[in-house]
Amino acid sequence: MKATTGFICDESYFWHQMGNGALNQRAGGWIQPDTHAENPETKRRAKNLIERSGYMDKLQQISPRSATREEIGMNHGMAYADRIKELSDAGGGDAGVHAIVGPDSYEIALKSAGGVLTSVEAVMEEKVQNAYALVRPPGHHAEPEEGMGFCLFNNVAIAAKYARRKYGLKRILVLDWDVHHGNGTERAFENDSDVLFISIHQENIFPKGRGEITYSGKGDGEGYNVNIELPAGTGNEGYLYAFDHLIEPIVEQYAPELIFVSAGQDASRFDPIGRMLVTADGYFQMGKRIKKLAEKHCDGRLIAAHEGGYSTAYVPFCTLRVIEALRGEHSQVEDPFDLGFHEGPIYPHQKEAIQRAVNVQKAYWNLK
Ligand code: ZN
Repeated sequence: MKATTGFICDESYFWHQMGNGALNQRAGGWIQPDTHAENPETKRRAKNLIERSGYMDKLQQISPRSATREEIGMNHGMAYADRIKELSDAGGGDAGVHAIVGPDSYEIALKSAGGVLTSVEAVMEEKVQNAYALVRPPGHHAEPEEGMGFCLFNNVAIAAKYARRKYGLKRILVLDWDVHHGNGTERAFENDSDVLFISIHQENIFPKGRGEITYSGKGDGEGYNVNIELPAGTGNEGYLYAFDHLIEPIVEQYAPELIFVSAGQDASRFDPIGRMLVTADGYFQMGKRIKKLAEKHCDGRLIAAHEGGYSTAYVPFCTLRVIEALRGEHSQVEDPFDLGFHEGPIYPHQKEAIQRAVNVQKAYWNLK
């Protein structure tokens, strides 16, 4: 079924500067710096592809507002927010591990968080059925008092808290398919049962020591935090196996009223800082699965917010496919990197890793 799909982006998102570096390393080490892995290109090219393919005409473009200081305060300490502003006003600095602030990054980060808030308003007020927020900087690693992993403010956590407060929602799902663990979002809701957080990620990649399958939340939130660790090299079939055996049955039982996807396209097979093998079609399949769950449980209310993804050539195709899945209509664009043979089969050790997560979650959910 075709949906009305909103598209949220802003030129300023491409103006956030991470400086030079080599992959995720800052300039000043042993190797000549080139462009930092988290640079505007992947996201700008994603937008360019949507435009060049004509697909933008099928989307409802929505201008993002900025988040207010008070809205940032729903998830972050004010002293932390002030520190980001000070660093930004001073021309740049460090807000945590791999969390670089550049000139004007504070204002841009407010608009990035605001982009997801705008998406919530558009979806909840039925201006669109679902939305893709191509925001930058990303958010899912940002902890309440600490930036991390290229993230300053946790866009999705702020938006989920906003949705809970403004629209009185009692069951919100956040599915994080970025290749890295969504530690900041886990932290934001680890005590809460009204936000179910599911992170599917490469095991122990970043941050170290987070995202273990045995961590299921605490207090009222115990059982509402689902970590799915996948071995390096997992491709389309492994991800879909996790949907079949964990994500779909858990979401069916939870019956969310609104769904967020932390859409990191760094599980792609070309990503320079992830080691997974998901293809653009794999992203389409995951998008289709989550859209179907949204249609079944919450009138299709679904917001995908862009997180990571560092292959300048491939992130655009993966992102386009996610948007096609949200809309329910293919573009004319073919994946030029499709090798034409079956990719990403599932291997026994990958099935076993998923089964271990199933066994942990059996304490909380009815799973086979
Ligand atoms: Zn990532």
